[in-house]
Amino acid sequence: MIFSSLAEKLQDTFDKLRGKGKLTEKDVKAALKEVKMALLEADVNYKVVKDFISKIEERAVGKEVMESLTPGQHVIKIVNEEMQELMGGSKEDIAISSEPPTIIMMVGLQGSGKTTSAGKLARKLSKDGKNPLLVAADVYRPAAIRQLQVLGERLELPVFSMGEDSNPVDIAKGSINYAASHNCDTIILDTAGRLHIDQEMMEELENIKGTVEPDEILLVVDAMTGQDAVNVAKNFDQRLDIDGIVLTKMDGDARGGAALSIKAITGKPIKFAGTGEKLADLETFHPDRMSSRILG
Ligand code: GDP
Repeated sequence: MIFSSLAEKLQDTFDKLRGKGKLTEKDVKAALKEVKMALLEADVNYKVVKDFISKIEERAVGKEVMESLTPGQHVIKIVNEEMQELMGGSKEDIAISSEPPTIIMMVGLQGSGKTTSAGKLARKLSKDGKNPLLVAADVYRPAAIRQLQVLGERLELPVFSMGEDSNPVDIAKGSINYAASHNCDTIILDTAGRLHIDQEMMEELENIKGTVEPDEILLVVDAMTGQDAVNVAKNFDQRLDIDGIVLTKMDGDARGGAALSIKAITGKPIKFAGTGEKLADLETFHPDRMSSRILG
């Protein structure tokens, strides 16, 4: 599971803190140094770690904490609060349009889990009482359209496609009419990804955005790629002003740094976490629960 090594290290540090009756400034500083090392090893961005530690230090090295009855517990509580804050504070929902259809545009690099996440999200929304339409606007990756159709069949949800020879902007536009005539209140656009960010892909995504004005642009990034995931997010956000992030493959053994730095670096919240290959493996991202999971 993601974060297991980070969690283990932090728990060791915290056990030591708890074991001490009184704490000195030196004890706290030593503990925070261990927290810092553990975060860096988990591939959290250096600057993010530095800011995070100095915020905690400001709150944790003081009379109030040192003289409290359980100073160790107090420090741990501060770390927990700051970690939650680092991941966005509280959960963030996706925007729902007051007038249907709500248009959700999924973007991301090839292999990030975009198509799978589109299916997972459709399943979730359908369970919440919505009528989602999946739209196959990735006309470049061989089999992407078929993949979405298979997901649609499994979910018993409609899939709109115009084949591989159509322009993705036309497909996106066409899906709005299709949704209206098929009673679908939510459109999930599966757009094209590439192996690397390139100009042409970004232009196409900008064109789709400009044409259909999505309510929500969700960037899908692979947690296994660590700091790269954060750089990808920064890039996509600069071009598309994304609304949120779906962090996939959280079930893997990645060190987890992306989950901890992506909000601080992009300012955009993680809204969902992919936790497996199955369609049910999508969780709403709760910073507080994630933080408690890491800190034990
Ligand atoms: P796309 O190219 O971005 O559309 O990527 P796909 O949706 O085809 O996914 C690429 C691979 O990642 C597939 O084998 C998926 O089953 C897998 N995948 C997607 N999300 C997750 C996840 O949350 N956990 C795991 N373990 N695998 C995932």
